[in-house]
Amino acid sequence: MSSLLDDLAPLKDEFIAFRHDLHIHPELGFTEKRTSDLIASKLEEWGYTVERGFGGTGLVATLHNGTSQKVIGLRAEMDALPIVETTGLPWQSGQESISHMCGHDGHTTMLVCAAKYLATKRPFDGTLHLIFQPAEELLCGGSRMIDDGLFDKYPCDILFAQHNMPGLAAGNFYFHKDAAMASSDTVKITVTGKGGHGAMPQKAKDPVVACAQLVMALQSIVSRNVDPFAQAVVTIGALNVGRAANVIPDQGELLLTIRTMADDVRKLVLVRINEIATSTASAFGCQATVDHQNGSPVLVNGAQAIDFARQTAAEIVGADHCHDSPPFMASEDFAFMLHAHPNGCYWFIGNGTEGCNGNPLHNGGFDFNDENILPGAALFVGLVEKYLKSAS
Ligand SMILES: [Zn+2]
Ligand SMILES: [Zn+2]
Repeated sequence: MSSLLDDLAPLKDEFIAFRHDLHIHPELGFTEKRTSDLIASKLEEWGYTVERGFGGTGLVATLHNGTSQKVIGLRAEMDALPIVETTGLPWQSGQESISHMCGHDGHTTMLVCAAKYLATKRPFDGTLHLIFQPAEELLCGGSRMIDDGLFDKYPCDILFAQHNMPGLAAGNFYFHKDAAMASSDTVKITVTGKGGHGAMPQKAKDPVVACAQLVMALQSIVSRNVDPFAQAVVTIGALNVGRAANVIPDQGELLLTIRTMADDVRKLVLVRINEIATSTASAFGCQATVDHQNGSPVLVNGAQAIDFARQTAAEIVGADHCHDSPPFMASEDFAFMLHAHPNGCYWFIGNGTEGCNGNPLHNGGFDFNDENILPGAALFVGLVEKYLKSAS
């Protein structure tokens, strides 16, 4: 165990209680009022300058020490999910259908714990920006902060964030070079025909047949257009068309989620969805409109940043507790920040395999592992100490 973990040990009980308090009071994306109030009051008490209202409920806290011009940015997310918690734990959510089932209560706690240590000991020379973003689960809180001028007002030389991962060993760190998390796009396709009597199809333009054909035609994008060595998912999660056996409806609708691991593949898939939707609908005498509802880019880890993070983690928890991670087809809002600011990275901290800690993210029985608060905070502190070399 490194001396940094020993140094942080006295903070453990305080920050387990802090995490449980956040867990009992979860808030959905863009409504993190209590959470951001609590973070801001603590950080101001410890000497940080806090700016509120970035991306709605987001905040940035800044601490200068010494004379160096170097700047590091550390980010955590604050929002919860619309999920009914079933853990039965003493700190179970106090909201009936909102809960921290992705562990953002834990991520915020790790960063606030690191913030207290850094403010007390000041083992760095330079500037520290702590970024607490709203609405990660909506995949737009990060981009809202950027749109509000996050990196114009608070430019960073390097940027770091972390996420827990159930099923992986607690207190261990997992790193993936290059593209680590997929892009995400939601697309709605509306197919408009002409309704009529089910017994007289020749007088109608049937969107049911067009939609059915479209479901199959869209499968060809991954199998026929995407390079077999690239990764892409096109899932049609909803097909809504028609209500009665003897009625040809006017309109049908498909809802798609698209995941890719490279921006050029993402562009290709979106272009092909447009082409296939319009041409297939047209072949059946119907019209398709394609509505791209939201998207986030591929999360690409900077090569130098990920090596630096892994090396720092190895010094804190030992190289045998640092591992290669596979990429994931899930998506992460921090991708927007790394897209805008490529010198940075994101890694996973294993949440454990037992009980609530081992249950999947977004499952009502999940809970962030309190034993991770110190290792996660220690890595944030270690990165600050190493990157902004100690002034003392
Ligand atoms: Zn999540
Ligand atoms: Zn999450």
